[in-house]
Amino acid sequence: MHPVLQKAIVTHHLSKEELIQVLSDEIPFEEVCAAADTIRKKYVGDDIHLRGLIEFSNICKNNCCYCGLRRDNKNITRYRIEPDEIIETAKQAIQELSLKTIVLQSGEDTYFSTDRLCYIIQNIKKHNVALTLSIGEKSLEEYKAYHAAGADRFLLRIETTDKEVYLKNDPGMSWENRIQCLNWLRASGLEVGSGSLIGLPGQTIESLADDILFFQKIDADMIGYGPLIPHPDTPLKNIPHGSFELAIRVMAATRLLLPDINIPATTAMETLHPNGQIIALKSGANVIMPNVTLTAYRKNYELYPGKSNTGYTPKKSYDELVQKIHAIGRSVGTSCGYRMKVKKNES
Ligand code: SAH
Ligand code: SF4
Repeated sequence: MHPVLQKAIVTHHLSKEELIQVLSDEIPFEEVCAAADTIRKKYVGDDIHLRGLIEFSNICKNNCCYCGLRRDNKNITRYRIEPDEIIETAKQAIQELSLKTIVLQSGEDTYFSTDRLCYIIQNIKKHNVALTLSIGEKSLEEYKAYHAAGADRFLLRIETTDKEVYLKNDPGMSWENRIQCLNWLRASGLEVGSGSLIGLPGQTIESLADDILFFQKIDADMIGYGPLIPHPDTPLKNIPHGSFELAIRVMAATRLLLPDINIPATTAMETLHPNGQIIALKSGANVIMPNVTLTAYRKNYELYPGKSNTGYTPKKSYDELVQKIHAIGRSVGTSCGYRMKVKKNES
């Protein structure tokens, strides 16, 4: 095994220069994936946790250059699902598919006030599941209120730690505030999820190495990566899509440095490669987020084109996934799948 991988497996620490080696062609792809798979098995086992995703509003006040939900995109039918219907969708998914986590995701839609969100959270939590929110930048008080209402986790990708690249691709937003939000999330008591887009214009291998070191510094509980897939109704419509292989390398390196966290095999990976999620699951990932949004809404939640399975019913998406999981000798997690911190030298 390459000495850098050997070091990562034993110490879970790498310098930026060493990380760059893992992310570049210097170390064969298969070796990096295999090392991450070994660490995944050792620290989080063979269970794959399924988190049912409900995309409850595609209305967004932000204008991220990569995203199909950006406010300047007029070529999209906007929707929001009312609180009681969100609760009902969650209930159905929990009962039909025995899910242990529900993830509520949306654009930054101000209709969903703290009171409305807390009402939704409290009612979904009655079903004995973990609840994750992915609804963007809020205040410390709001994050605390969600936690007090019963929410367990929050996903907020930094997208990139390269401030210049961030500001170019997220016009009108503040990079400092994004960092602040991640700190507030930690202070609120929620589990903290973050991650990056792979393939932003101006992004480099060096900055991806910085991203991983940043996630290690903030001791993130969950990290997800999406290869950027250009959306035709956005300013980035003509850029090449992010590299699938690089996204897997970054993900695998993250497993090596943050061995006990939750890492999803993301839908964007599956969209770019017909076997994308399976490759991810064999390269460090231990989570999948099956879409349980009602079919009628799904086609309008187009962060990027070709999102896989957009036309499927929740049951069909779920059954397909379980088959795939069993086919690679893994099991479906039956717990809520919280991060279980492992003392690195005693494992
Ligand atoms: N509005 C919330 C949650 C919804 S967007 C937020 O921004 O945090 C969820 C994620 O979708 C974003 O963090 C971004 O990384 C990803 N995304 C958006 N556009 C994408 C694209 N074109 N290709 C791949 N991923 C994309
Ligand atoms: Fe809105 Fe999130 Fe898309 Fe940015 S990435 S435009 S915040 S939905």
